[in-house]
Amino acid sequence: MKFNKLDIIEPLLRAVKEQGYEDATPIQEKAIPQALQGKDILGCAQTGTGKTAAFSIPTIQQLYQAGKRDYIRALILTPTRELAIQIQENMCAYAKYTEIKSAVIFGGVSQKPQERAIQNGVDIVIATPGRLNDLIKQSIIDLSHIEIFILDEADRMLDMGFLNDVKKIIAQIPVKKQTLFFSATMPKEIRTLVHTLLVDPVSVEV
Ligand code: AMP
Repeated sequence: MKFNKLDIIEPLLRAVKEQGYEDATPIQEKAIPQALQGKDILGCAQTGTGKTAAFSIPTIQQLYQAGKRDYIRALILTPTRELAIQIQENMCAYAKYTEIKSAVIFGGVSQKPQERAIQNGVDIVIATPGRLNDLIKQSIIDLSHIEIFILDEADRMLDMGFLNDVKKIIAQIPVKKQTLFFSATMPKEIRTLVHTLLVDPVSVEV
């Protein structure tokens, strides 16, 4: 299906076209219109399906349409530094013609540049759980205004031993929010998390 059938606004359509994308992938076709309605999404999808755009485009669009604010309004949690960087690169490309700004946070490198990026003011934070918790503890990051929460590769978070870190972060986010939840598999611990976190979700399987 063509992107222009998915209720995507012009600045985003233009950016997507520049990426060379012709048609939306199945997960994008199913998830984008629902996410734009503010629905919670439970996505069963692997990397390579186009899921990054499926959650990034509706996030950017909703924040853009609501107008600029002075706080962090969307959080994307992902298990590895490589994924975090990749999401940030995609996010910057898609948000190119909007004023929406994002920063990426991960461990194993100096905290200072990440701290400065946050202090310059961003709408979206893309983070791995360990470093994000460090920054929350130091009051460098405030998640109390999060409107959209994306949990990427939830099953991998579990495998890597990040589930407790993830739960600590969720406790910092307002209860009332939109959640876009992605996992390739649904082990028991992840199903439990789905039940506590998602409200009447739309299931998207590809
Ligand atoms: P992801 O599953 O999000 O890691 O995306 C896998 C790759 O597909 C990335 O390199 C994207 O840039 C690319 N991609 C995402 N959506 C589309 C699309 N609709 N058409 C062509 N390529 C895409």
